[in-house]
Amino acid sequence: MSYELPTKRHSLSHILAQAVKSIYPDAKLAIGPDIEHGFYYDFDFGEVEFKEENLKEIEKKMKNIIKQNQIFENYRLPVDEAIRILNDSWEIYKVEMAEDLKAWWETEISFYKNMTQQWIQTFVDMCRWPHVWKSLDIDESSFKLDKIAWAYWKWDSNNKMLTRIYAFAFENREELDAYLKQLEEAKRRDHRIIWDKMKLFTISKLVWAGLPLLQPNWMVIRKEIEDYLWELHKNKWYDRVWTPHLAKEDLYITSGHAEKFWDELFRVKWADDSFFLKPMNCPHHMQIFADNQFSYRDMPIRYFEPATVYRDEKSWQLSWLTRVRSITQDDGHLFCRVWQISDEVWTIVSIIKEFYVTMWMIEWYWVRLSVRWPEWKYMWSDEAWEKAEWALTAAAEKYNLPYRIWIDEAAFYWPKLDFIFKDAIWREWQLATIQCDFQLPERFDLSYVNEAWEKERPVVIHRAISGSLERFMGVMIEHFAGIFPLWLAPKQVIIVPVSDIFNDYGQEICKKLKESSIRATVDNTSDSLNKKVRNAEMSKIPYILIVWEQEQNDKTVSVRNYKTKEQNVAKIEDFISDISEEIKTKKI
Ligand SMILES: [Zn+2]
Ligand SMILES: [Zn+2]
Repeated sequence: MSYELPTKRHSLSHILAQAVKSIYPDAKLAIGPDIEHGFYYDFDFGEVEFKEENLKEIEKKMKNIIKQNQIFENYRLPVDEAIRILNDSWEIYKVEMAEDLKAWWETEISFYKNMTQQWIQTFVDMCRWPHVWKSLDIDESSFKLDKIAWAYWKWDSNNKMLTRIYAFAFENREELDAYLKQLEEAKRRDHRIIWDKMKLFTISKLVWAGLPLLQPNWMVIRKEIEDYLWELHKNKWYDRVWTPHLAKEDLYITSGHAEKFWDELFRVKWADDSFFLKPMNCPHHMQIFADNQFSYRDMPIRYFEPATVYRDEKSWQLSWLTRVRSITQDDGHLFCRVWQISDEVWTIVSIIKEFYVTMWMIEWYWVRLSVRWPEWKYMWSDEAWEKAEWALTAAAEKYNLPYRIWIDEAAFYWPKLDFIFKDAIWREWQLATIQCDFQLPERFDLSYVNEAWEKERPVVIHRAISGSLERFMGVMIEHFAGIFPLWLAPKQVIIVPVSDIFNDYGQEICKKLKESSIRATVDNTSDSLNKKVRNAEMSKIPYILIVWEQEQNDKTVSVRNYKTKEQNVAKIEDFISDISEEIKTKKI
C-alpha cells in the first residue's frame, strides 16, 4: 500500500521518538509533526545534554526499527483513562495536551502502539492518526536527521526550552539526495557567505539589527540598479520626486496607515507633536499631487522615488537582507483617469519585463491577481473594490499575462498584480507589484479638472519593480552566486603587475580605465603573481589584466576573463572599447 508523503514523514517522527526513548529512557515527548521537506520532534532531555553528534546513533537505531517491520496499531481511550496512563508514564507534555483536549470537550484520545511481528509492544504514543501500517512501508534510506534546534513548549518563552530534532524525508533515496544537493547549492549561494567574502554591508550593534549599513561594494551595485530603473522610467514619462523621512501622525491617520500598521510604526515625539518615521511613500506623493491644479490634459501624472521607509519588524522576522527595518523601495505612484488604467498597467508591465530580461530572470514567471475575500475585512467600499479588480483583470486579459486569481486575505488595501519570478536555482520570489487604488485619492480629496471644468477624482496606481532593494539584492547575490554581470560588478577590472617595476605601467592603465568610467584597481602588493591572480579570482572580479615587460613595451594587456577562463592579449584602447560595450548593453 502506498501512502501520502506527509503520512510517511509523520510516521517517521514516531520512529524517531521510539529510537530516542530506547537510548534515553528519561526523555519526555512533546510533539512531532510532518513539515515541508521532512519532520521534527520536540523532546525534553532533562539533565542530559543532547548534542548534534548523537544524531548518528539515533539515525542508526531508526533504521533498525524500520527493518524490524514494526506494526502501527491505532486505538482510542476515554480521556480520563488516557490522562491516568500518561501520568503513570511521566509524559508531562502529553498529559498537558490531553488535559487541553479535555477542556475542549474531547471525550476520547487517540493513541497508537508499535509492535513487532511477534506482537510484542515496543512503543506507545498519544497521537492523531494517520500512520503507515508497518514500518517497512517507509524506505529506510529516504530520510536523514538534519540538526537540533531549541523550541519553547507551546511557543511560549515562559515555558521550558525543548530540544527539537529536525529531519529531511522524501519518498526514496534519489529524492532525498536531489534535495540535499539543492540545499548544498543554496548554501554555496547564500548571500551571507558571499557577503562575508565581498564585504557588502555591516550590521552594527550600536546602530541596530535590521538597519544595514552599506559598504562601498554594495552601494555600487545598488546605485547601478537604481540608475537603471530610473532610465527605464524616464523613457516612460515619469518625474523624480523626493520626500522626507518623517511626517506628522495626521498624515497617516488620514491615509489609514496608522490604524493598519500601528504596531509596526516608529513614533517620534518632539515638543507637543507626534510624528512617524514614514512606513510608506504613498501619502507623501498624494500631497505632492494635491499641491498642483492639474487638468485632464496633464493626466497621467507619474512620480518615481527610490526611498527608504521604516517598519518595526519583530526581531525574529529579521533575516539579514530579506527582512530589514529600513526598506528602500523603488517606489512610484501614478495618477490617471479610469480609462487610462489599462494603458498605464501595460507601460509598467513593459518596464517589469525589460528589467527582468536584463536580470536574466524572465524565462519563467507568473502573475498573481489578488482579490479580496471575505469582503468585510477590507478598508474600502465595495464599489471601489469592484472597479479596481475589474481594471486589473481587464489589463491582465488584454496583455495575455500568465495570471492566476488569488483570494488574498492580506490584500486589505486594494487589488494587485504581483509578479513572481524564479532565480537560478528555481526558487520563487515575489518581486514586482502593481496595485490599483480608488481610495487614497478619496481620503486625500484629490482631483483634477475635466473637460467640462468640473473636479474629477484620479485613480492611483502604486507600483514597484524590484520591490525592496535590500531584498532584491539579497536575491540577486544568490541568483548570480556572487558572479555579477560586468555592469553590476563592484570591481570590474583588476590590474596585476608581475613585479614592482611594472606598477607604474599598471597605474597608467588604471587611470585610462577610470577615465572611461570603468571600475578598476591595481594590485600593487608584493605577493607572487600566482597569489595575486588567485586573490582576484576569489573576489570574482570579471577581468584580470596581467602586465609584464612585453605588455609595457607594446602598450597592451594580457586579459583573463573570469567567467569564460579565456585569455588573450589586446591593445589597451581595444580592451576599453570592448568592455565599455559590454557594460553599456548590460550583457549577461
Ligand atoms: Zn502520529
Ligand atoms: Zn504606494
